[in-house]
Amino acid sequence: MNTITHWIGGAPWTGASDRTGPVYNPATGQQTAAVAFADEAAIDAAVSTAKEAFTEWGRTPITRRQNIMFAFRELMASRRLDMARLITAEHGKTLDDALGEVQRGLEVVEFACNIAHLLKGEYSEQVSTGVDTFTTRQPLGVVAGITPFNFPAMVPMWMYPIAIACGNTFILKPSEKDPSASVLAAELFAEAGLPDGVFNVVHGDKVAVDALLTHPDVAAVSFVGSTPIARYVYEKGTKHGKRVQALGGAKNHMVVLPDADMDLAADSAVSAGYGSAGERCMAISVVVTVGDAADALIPKIEERIADLKVAPGFDEGSEMGPLITKEAQDRVAGYVDAGEEAGARLVVDGRDFKVDGHEDGFFLGPTLFDQVTPDMSVYTDEIFGPVLSTVRLDSYGEAIQLINDNPFGNGTAVFTSDGGAARKFQNEVQVGMVGINVPIPVPLSFYSFGGWKNSIFGTHAIYGPEGVHFYTRQKVITSRWADPMHRGVDLGFPRSD
Ligand code: NAD
Repeated sequence: MNTITHWIGGAPWTGASDRTGPVYNPATGQQTAAVAFADEAAIDAAVSTAKEAFTEWGRTPITRRQNIMFAFRELMASRRLDMARLITAEHGKTLDDALGEVQRGLEVVEFACNIAHLLKGEYSEQVSTGVDTFTTRQPLGVVAGITPFNFPAMVPMWMYPIAIACGNTFILKPSEKDPSASVLAAELFAEAGLPDGVFNVVHGDKVAVDALLTHPDVAAVSFVGSTPIARYVYEKGTKHGKRVQALGGAKNHMVVLPDADMDLAADSAVSAGYGSAGERCMAISVVVTVGDAADALIPKIEERIADLKVAPGFDEGSEMGPLITKEAQDRVAGYVDAGEEAGARLVVDGRDFKVDGHEDGFFLGPTLFDQVTPDMSVYTDEIFGPVLSTVRLDSYGEAIQLINDNPFGNGTAVFTSDGGAARKFQNEVQVGMVGINVPIPVPLSFYSFGGWKNSIFGTHAIYGPEGVHFYTRQKVITSRWADPMHRGVDLGFPRSD
C-alpha cells in the first residue's frame, strides 16, 4: 500500500519513525493509503530546514516573492482538477464541491500576489525637528499551520500563501485523514521556483502538533479545527511564547422571519445544511423560525431533501457525498438517536440510507428535526453531519437572544424582507460573520475570516488584512537627520519640538 510521506527541504522525506495512520476512500469504506506520522525528530528536521531557509527567504526581494506566488497560482489553477480529485478521493465531498474549495483557496493566493501593497508602511515627516518616524512590517520566521480534514486544500491556503509572501517559511501539518492535497501543493511550489525549505509538510497526530507547539524555533502557529483542540493549541502555544491564532468549531443558526422569501430560505437551509454532508464550519445546523414561519418553511425543506442526490463524490450529478470516517458516521447517527429520544420530531431520517454498490461507504442521508429545544444534544453540540434542527420561537428578540447565549459564534444568517429587521440583526447579534439573506457568509480573500466566542482563540482573524498582520510584526523607526545633529546631553523624556 502507498505511504504518503512528509515533504521537507523541497523533496519527499522518509526518515524517522515507522508510525503511520490509515487514509480511506469514504465512498467505499476501504483504506487506500497509509500516511507517515511525524515524531519529534521529523518535526525537528522540518523546523531546522525551515529556519535555515528563512535566512535567505526573509530578505528575498518582495517582487521576487510575488513572482513565485504568481507562478504557483498559475500552476494550481491549471492543476485544479487534479487537486479536486485528490480531495474527493480522500475526503468524499463531490468533485464540484472540491473544485469550489480549490477556487476559494486560490483567491487567497491571488490576494498574496499583491503582498507588496499590503506590506507598505506608514511615514510621518518632521515629527520633531529633523526627525521622521516610519513603520515596516517584517516576517516572524518559521511559522506552522495545523489544519482540519474538512477543507484539505482551502484551509491550508488560508494560511501559507500569506505567510510565505510575507517572507516567513512554513510548516504545514494537515489533517492525517486527507493529506494528499498538501503534498501536491508542495510539489507545485517546487515547480514554481520556491526555494527548498520555504514550504514543508509534516503529517501526523498529537505527537507532531505537540512538537510544533513546544519547539523553540517556531515563532507562530495558525490552527483551524474543533474547539477543544483549538483551545488546547492556543494555551500550549502561547505558553511556549508563540503567537497563536486558533479557529474552532461552530453551531451556526439561520433565523427565518415570517416575512422571508420562503423558497429562498428553504433553498438556503438545504444548501447550507447538507452541502459537503454538513462537514463545514460555516454549515447551518439550526434553523430558528419565528412565529408561524416553520409551517411554511418545513414542507419546502422536506420537498428539496427528497430531490437530493446522495452518491459517491465522483458520480455525475452527486450533490452530497459520504462522511469522512466510520466513526463520524456512527457519531452523527448517535445524535439522531439522541434527538429522537429527547422528543424532537424527526421529519426526515437519514440513518438507514444506503448507496447501492457502496454499502460499506460512510453515507448518511439528510436528516431534519422539528421542535428541537435548546437543552437537547442535537442543539447544544456541533454535530458536523447532515442534520438540520429546527427551533421554533415566538419572537425575533428570543431568536437573537438564543444565538447570543450560544457559546459558539462563527457564522449566522437572517432571512427576511424587512431592512429594519436585518439591520437590528447585524447590529445586535454576537457572531463574527453575519449573512443577510445569505446562508454561508464566508468573506472573500480581501476581507478576513473569523468567528467570535468559542469559535476563535487569539486576536487575529485568518487571511486577508488580518492574516498579513498575524504573519508580520511591526517595527517603528524614529530617525534623525537634522542639522545640527548634536544638541548636548538631555536626561528628560524625549519631547517633540
Ligand atoms: P480536529 O480538531 O479533530 O483536528 C484538527 C487538527 O488538529 C488536525 O490536524 C488534527 O491532526 C489535529 N489534532 C487532532 N486531535 C489533536 C490532539 N488531541 N492534539 C493535538 N492535535 C490534534 O478537527 P477536524 O475533525 O479535523 O475538523 C473539524 C472541525 O474543524 C470542526 O469542529 C469544524 O467546525 C472545525 N473547523 C473550523 C473552521 C473555522 O474556520 N472556524 C474551519 C474548518 C473546520
